[in-house]
Amino acid sequence: MKLLEERIKKDGVVKAGNVLKVDSFLNHQIDIKLMNEIGKEFKRIFSDVEVTKILTVEASGIAIAAIVAQYFDVPVVFAKKSQSINLDGSIYSTKIESFTHKRVYDVIVSKKYLSPEDKVLVVDDFLANGCAADGLIDIINESGATLQGVGIIIEKGFQDGGKRLRERGVRVESLAIVDAMDDKTGEITFRHQS
Ligand code: 5GP
Repeated sequence: MKLLEERIKKDGVVKAGNVLKVDSFLNHQIDIKLMNEIGKEFKRIFSDVEVTKILTVEASGIAIAAIVAQYFDVPVVFAKKSQSINLDGSIYSTKIESFTHKRVYDVIVSKKYLSPEDKVLVVDDFLANGCAADGLIDIINESGATLQGVGIIIEKGFQDGGKRLRERGVRVESLAIVDAMDDKTGEITFRHQS
């Protein structure tokens, strides 16, 4: 997505440790105009599949998924980071290792909000090693719902999450794929999808 790549080039900041900061338009301050274009683009890309729920993980995924969901006219469900354990069997749960915080979270979704009839699109801001996506897919599998695809705003193509998911047969659609980035020069290069 050209508009997104241009914005990443203009405002993205490359940090040590393979972290791309996009706080000025995506992860702290949010550019709603850009987010609406992103929502429209996901709707265009996934127009061939039925979607009944959008699933993401808190915190940064929520605002993004909420805007994207307007174009699909479906609810957003976000997996919550939780300390509580599944005592009464009313929740689906899994573990997600945070790429940016380097710790493992238990995440949960209430069984009320995901069922075998659901057709789910996973949406997230970044795809790095794929832990967040793996965890959300675990929850979808546990619920018996159907995974229709994974929509990612920025995939870091030099990390292996995207490759692993695609090898498993998961449909992953990323609006921008960063092929390389350099924290010394700040240079960011993109992979162009055919
Ligand atoms: P993964 O689970 O694929 O390793 O990482 C994806 C999650 O980590 C995303 O939900 C995102 O919040 C965070 N993340 C991964 N890489 C980056 C990055 O370069 N920049 C930012 N801002 N977040 C990232």
